Amino acid sequence: MTKLLLHICCGPCSITTLKTLLAEGHEVTGLFHNPNIHPLTEYAKRRDGCLTVAEKLGVKVIVKDDEYRPQEWFRAVAHRENNRCFHCYAMRLERTAQIAKRGGFDFFTTTLLYSKYQKHDEIAALGRDLESAKTKFLYHDFREGWKEGIETSKEWEIYRQQYCGCLYSENERYKRELLG
Ligand code: SF4
Repeated sequence: MTKLLLHICCGPCSITTLKTLLAEGHEVTGLFHNPNIHPLTEYAKRRDGCLTVAEKLGVKVIVKDDEYRPQEWFRAVAHRENNRCFHCYAMRLERTAQIAKRGGFDFFTTTLLYSKYQKHDEIAALGRDLESAKTKFLYHDFREGWKEGIETSKEWEIYRQQYCGCLYSENERYKRELLG
């Protein structure tokens, strides 16, 4: 059985991703490391949703609350806001690859590959760039589980977010509604 570290961004995105990886026979550990989620109350809701899903599926999760430092995230994207998603993915995947390598995992991957709203090919390319001889990036098009993931998250009453994560995305989501 191969050891795999799965970076998890939220509960709903982890449902079919975890089910797929478990069905493939991987020994999966989750990693919740997302300094891009603002504000803190939103971060806590997504973290708790992730933990509920993981508990239902019998998966352990490493939670990096001690590394929730939005200040560093804002510094990483400052003056590069138009390309911020790339830096946001890189920040989270670099840490995932580092933890996977140190922890002796055979593979790492991410639930970001589940979302139809993320830049799928950019995430896959970043993952491949970050793999090493001992810890490979596992690519899978988890978007195939999109519909089932949404339905199950509703059935399990898992918190479902209304915007991607950062304050920029929150602004884009609500500005028309609130500012006209
Ligand atoms: S929109 Fe989402 S992926 Fe892009 S920078 Fe914001 S949180 Fe990160």
